[in-house]
Amino acid sequence: MEGKKGLIVGVANEKSLCWGIAQVLAEHGAQIAFTYAGEILEKRVKPLAASIGSDFVLEMDVTDDDGIDKAFEEYKARFGQMDFLVHGVAFSDKTELKGNYYDTTRANFSMTMDISAYSLAALSRRAQAIMPSGGSILTLSFYGAQRAVPNYNVMGVAKAALEASVRYLAADFGPRNIRVNAISAGPIKTLASSGIANFKELYKMGASGAPMNRNVTQEEVGGAALFLLSDLSSAVTGEVLFVDGGYHAAIRKPDIQA
Ligand code: NAD
Repeated sequence: MEGKKGLIVGVANEKSLCWGIAQVLAEHGAQIAFTYAGEILEKRVKPLAASIGSDFVLEMDVTDDDGIDKAFEEYKARFGQMDFLVHGVAFSDKTELKGNYYDTTRANFSMTMDISAYSLAALSRRAQAIMPSGGSILTLSFYGAQRAVPNYNVMGVAKAALEASVRYLAADFGPRNIRVNAISAGPIKTLASSGIANFKELYKMGASGAPMNRNVTQEEVGGAALFLLSDLSSAVTGEVLFVDGGYHAAIRKPDIQA
């Protein structure tokens, strides 16, 4: 990643998946700008960014088009071009991340889709304008996009839209050597996942149901992100890469004998 510059949208604290990605990218020489959403998170994001040598932290709420424009203008003024964009943004009313999907309200459906799915297109549109020599865009998804997962509800529907968006954006940008991929991560304890009812159970299942018989770490998500954001994956686009110990692929054997 030496000589590459990019933007990470989605660090809230040291537990964020995006923070795992940021650390691995920085270790490999990337120059990184960060965003935060709201003053409370500014206080968390700035010291984290500083700890890996970045003093470039911008405010951005993905529901605010003018705010997104302003952040991209500030990015361009300082970094010029963009080589990579990481999108790790999701939000829903937690009172609807439990019970039945059919109880989802129209208002929360729209908000969840807007913040968790539409924002990828909104950010990618601005990013591609400053990726004249190609680039790599990465978002974060979850298995609830592909199978109904208890309590994940409207967020699963938004993740399905997000994964479809990855494919449409890959088609849009492919001719210009801009790649778009997703990592579908196994459950990890974060601020966002704490909003899902009974996440503890999902977390346990993530380990006990996976062929590798364990959960995954932020660093492992970071490693896969390094692959997808670097030239190592130069022919990979439109892909959803699972980093979940194999949970999506296989039913774990009851007797684990190496
Ligand atoms: P997190 O709470 O650390 O990150 C979520 C981020 O979304 C935060 O930085 C928050 O500020 C940002 N955000 C929310 N609303 C926003 C808005 N309006 N404008 C700008 N930013 C906004 O939690 P996380 O688990 O690291 O989540 C990051 C991504 O990873 C999400 O897309 C999540 O769905 C996905 N993911 C998480 C898990 C998991 O188990 N934690 C598993 C798979 C995928």
